[in-house]
Amino acid sequence: MSDSPAPTDGFSDLGLSPLMLTALAQAEYTEPTPVQAGLIPRALQGSDLLGQARTGTGKTAAFAIPILERVERSKQGFPQALILVPTRELAVQVRGEITKLAFGRKTRVLAVYGGKPIRGQTEKLSRGTEVVVGTPGRVLDHMARGTLKMDCLQVVVLDEADRMLDIGFRPDIEKILRRCPKDRQTLLLSATVPGPVERLARRYMQNPESLNFSPKELSGETIDQFYFTVDQDRKYELLKRLLDREKPRQAIVFCRTKRGTDRLAVKLGKKNPGVACIHGDMHQGARDRVMQQFRESDVKILIATDVVGRGIDVSGVSHIINYDTPTFCDDYVHRVGRTGRMGKDGIAEGVAYTFVTPEEGGELTNIEMRINKLLIRDEIRDFTTVRVKDVEQKETAPAKPPGPPLKKGGRPKRRIRRAL
Ligand code: ADP
Ligand code: MG
Repeated sequence: MSDSPAPTDGFSDLGLSPLMLTALAQAEYTEPTPVQAGLIPRALQGSDLLGQARTGTGKTAAFAIPILERVERSKQGFPQALILVPTRELAVQVRGEITKLAFGRKTRVLAVYGGKPIRGQTEKLSRGTEVVVGTPGRVLDHMARGTLKMDCLQVVVLDEADRMLDIGFRPDIEKILRRCPKDRQTLLLSATVPGPVERLARRYMQNPESLNFSPKELSGETIDQFYFTVDQDRKYELLKRLLDREKPRQAIVFCRTKRGTDRLAVKLGKKNPGVACIHGDMHQGARDRVMQQFRESDVKILIATDVVGRGIDVSGVSHIINYDTPTFCDDYVHRVGRTGRMGKDGIAEGVAYTFVTPEEGGELTNIEMRINKLLIRDEIRDFTTVRVKDVEQKETAPAKPPGPPLKKGGRPKRRIRRAL
């Protein structure tokens, strides 16, 4: 390992140990993000916190840093921190981030999630670990078997709380929280805080302080967001042409259903190398493999469903394409948050395209109201996306989707590059 770079000023005002500052320098985190600057000092004091900040703003480190400062390697090895996350992919990702920040410590971090044999995890738990990251189902399973000891938990984190509730983890989460020691600290992180999250927080947290870092814009201004009006049966052709035009470094294409995801991946994969898909019906091994290939850029175009696509943090993602509009507008925010993530220089950029069928005008408006911003209409030169409905015009006039006319020559010029 190379020499550690010198600790920097950015984090040194937050009351962190020299060990932590070294780990941060090692990770090349020079400045805390707003959610980190806000949460870390309060979390270090032991308060219960509800932190809201948009995707990609460093919420993981915001809870990982205070946890690492608090837990200590123990001989007995009962977990001292438990982090609940909605998906297996996130469990792996969060474990990775904590391990990175545990640089120079002996702290053990273990991920427990379904789809992997329980035995290996049980063995690792019995050998002892300070931090456990897990999906609620598998955590409950280990609790029931007595392999996950709850008695020494000092900190419990609900990460991506909104999504955990969306996918029906509420009863599991409540069961887990009821079994946690009463005097623990609870941290809840979420990109959005709808009513059910707020109620959960009030019920299981002690005077939680609410910190909101995304008051106005939920989906970053750092991301250029466009839409196409397109007939359902022309979406595939549009996708091909859009990929041709954009030549994305790496893209995630979101579909609404698992079968749709499969079908699109097969069709697109026939013509293009580097296409893969990921959804909840795939075996864990296959999902892990695809994510690994995506991280290593062997996969350039990942076709995904919302549940799995959520929270994926792959820094190279330049394009998000919503092949189907999301069922819930919150999902739009999460999908688009997959791009526009922080670069090494603290600058984010990315672009998102949403395919809207002529019947989905209402959905488009809902999204725009949700993000408080209008999507810009785009079109592909010489490609008609909407069939002309009027019989008389059919052979003579090209289809003209509704909305204001667009500049000739494809994508409007506006590109924002802006520090987070
Ligand atoms: P969120 O949970 O808010 O969606 P993540 O915790 O996944 O965001 O962080 C997004 C990316 O930003 C990760 O790649 C992470 O390593 C990076 N990151 C986090 N904090 C910093 C920082 N202070 N400086 C630079 N990069 C950071
Ligand atoms: Mg996160």
